[in-house]
Amino acid sequence: MSTRRDFLKGVLASGAAVTAAAVTEPAVARETKSRPPEALGLLFDATLCVGCKACVSACKQVNNLPPEFSTADPLWDTPLDTSAYTFNVIKMYRNGTMAAKDHETDGFAFMKVSCMHCADPSCVSACPVTAMTKDPVTGVVGYDPDRCIGCRYCVAACPFGIPKYQYDSPTGKIGKCELCRHRYKDGKYAACAEVCPTGATLFGKSSDLLVEAKRRLALKPGAPMKVQRGKIGGPDQSYEAVAGNYLQHVYGEKEYGGTQVLKLSGVTFEKVGMPDLPENAAAALSETIQHTLYANMIMPVAVLGALTFVAKRNVKHDDDKEGN
Ligand code: SF4
Ligand code: SF4
Ligand code: SF4
Repeated sequence: MSTRRDFLKGVLASGAAVTAAAVTEPAVARETKSRPPEALGLLFDATLCVGCKACVSACKQVNNLPPEFSTADPLWDTPLDTSAYTFNVIKMYRNGTMAAKDHETDGFAFMKVSCMHCADPSCVSACPVTAMTKDPVTGVVGYDPDRCIGCRYCVAACPFGIPKYQYDSPTGKIGKCELCRHRYKDGKYAACAEVCPTGATLFGKSSDLLVEAKRRLALKPGAPMKVQRGKIGGPDQSYEAVAGNYLQHVYGEKEYGGTQVLKLSGVTFEKVGMPDLPENAAAALSETIQHTLYANMIMPVAVLGALTFVAKRNVKHDDDKEGN
């Protein structure tokens, strides 16, 4: 009579045989996808940010999110990081005496943390049920809770640590910024950009935001700089500021194949919490590997084996009970 051990041996042997067949043809990563021409995004300029967190409150309000408390006194919404209930936070970099803003040594700086709306998003690539999708026109990476099965592959796949799961709910879902896509039909746009008093967060087409970012980088530190608030192409809410002491780097222009949210800073991006990423999106390679696995039937064999094992185990338990 065949035993459970024999069964498992059979599954492993057949899996190994198929795997061996697959590895004879190494996967070649597909090309990293680019931003759609009309892609929407944000430009966050850390040198203009005053840390007021109006953008954090506005994000909560328009997305109907509850407060989160990190202090003993539950009076104010005080999230320390993004979560399934906080899609946008402002983090602070601090060094030494903190005497000067946007200085790495003895200085401080702010950084906005929310979804980057990657051109070639890993969360979309990893999701097995297309609950995470990228809009072909706006490029906004949206989430459909009705499709989500709670596997959390998107959580593991995102290099920015953005999608977060509601662990406190029996029917937990993912929470993340969707660039306020639910507001576009009313002619509105990202609430964080709409309320930002200094224009540190600006909404618009990613291509226009990139031009604007490069315009700022071309200015000498301290030179007069006209700053638009709200939305590029929206009502004129501009004011005169001075150019910051920028690093000559638009974060998100190339990182990870490019993102639709772009950032400028006076302090090294890694120090303000942004990961140092290659120019190719991991989605390109991981998707190629996934497709290779499916093409060679490795995943179906493994999944079928695991399901059969669980089914057999349960049947055996029932048999045992009957025999008692
Ligand atoms: S609203 Fe603007 S200035 Fe205030 S914290 Fe947010 S990005 Fe910074
Ligand atoms: S930042 Fe993360 S969650 Fe946002 S689109 Fe990129 S991979 Fe997806
Ligand atoms: S675009 Fe909307 S959801 Fe995203 S961080 Fe800004 S306010 Fe929050």
